[in-house]
Amino acid sequence: MQLRFLGTAAAEGYPDPFCDCDNCRQARARGGRSLRRRSSALIDGELLIDPGPDLLAASLSDGVPLVGLRYCLQTHEHADHLDPLHFFARSPMCAVKGHGRLEYLAGEGALATAAAKLGLAKGFLDPETAGRWNLAARAIEPFREYAVGPYRVRAVRADHDPKITALLYLIERDGRCLFYATDTGELPDETWTDLKARAAEGLKLHVVAMDHTFGMAGRVRGHMNWEQFTEQVARLRDLGLLTDGARIFAHHIAHHSNPCHEELSAFAAEHGYEVAHDGLEVEV
Ligand SMILES: [Zn+2]
Ligand SMILES: [Zn+2]
Ligand SMILES: [Zn+2]
Repeated sequence: MQLRFLGTAAAEGYPDPFCDCDNCRQARARGGRSLRRRSSALIDGELLIDPGPDLLAASLSDGVPLVGLRYCLQTHEHADHLDPLHFFARSPMCAVKGHGRLEYLAGEGALATAAAKLGLAKGFLDPETAGRWNLAARAIEPFREYAVGPYRVRAVRADHDPKITALLYLIERDGRCLFYATDTGELPDETWTDLKARAAEGLKLHVVAMDHTFGMAGRVRGHMNWEQFTEQVARLRDLGLLTDGARIFAHHIAHHSNPCHEELSAFAAEHGYEVAHDGLEVEV
């Protein structure tokens, strides 16, 4: 699988356009990998994880058309991960023709939020609405597995916002597996139980992209700092889930707690992981 990071920032973007902290000032001065759009990722040009608010900007500035998009996974309904207007842009309502229906997998809450944001009387599970928007929507739940074209997708539960169901994804194709794990704090016990069962079945992870929102700050709930991040990685390794040479990426980077890309990458390298940046392509 070819993984491309379309965005790697937390909800406010990096730099936060309204912020004058040292990190934001540095990022503006340096540009390049220190500039981060809101988090989103694309696999093989056909599977999108999170249609976030910067999807258009990513497509424009990285020269990545989304013409081949066939599948979309939603981690959760927070606004930095879900801008359903993108579905409008792909639909016959915008004179876009020739695409099959986009398979959209999301939790019930995310589906309801998407419909509400668009002011739809009926949600995307309604056949007439789905047809108009050229979507084939599926309401999904944690700890279940879904066939999505050539991909096998397993959703597990995040520890993020207790008011919603936030999902993390194990995405497999041709014996290779990506664990896409933002937004989350330390993984909940039931997720570890599920991962342990997958490990017993022989699952191996080749790439992990995990929440690093609070980088150098103290320990938090709902997101992670670097210590919590490395503890989760160690636990994945203890379960035998990581292949030799598995690549581990910090993702969902917030300006208030993470230095610019070069410094953060140097720190991460000392602790056995890497830092994702916008436009980064990784062979899973
Ligand atoms: Zn987020
Ligand atoms: Zn700042
Ligand atoms: Zn969130």
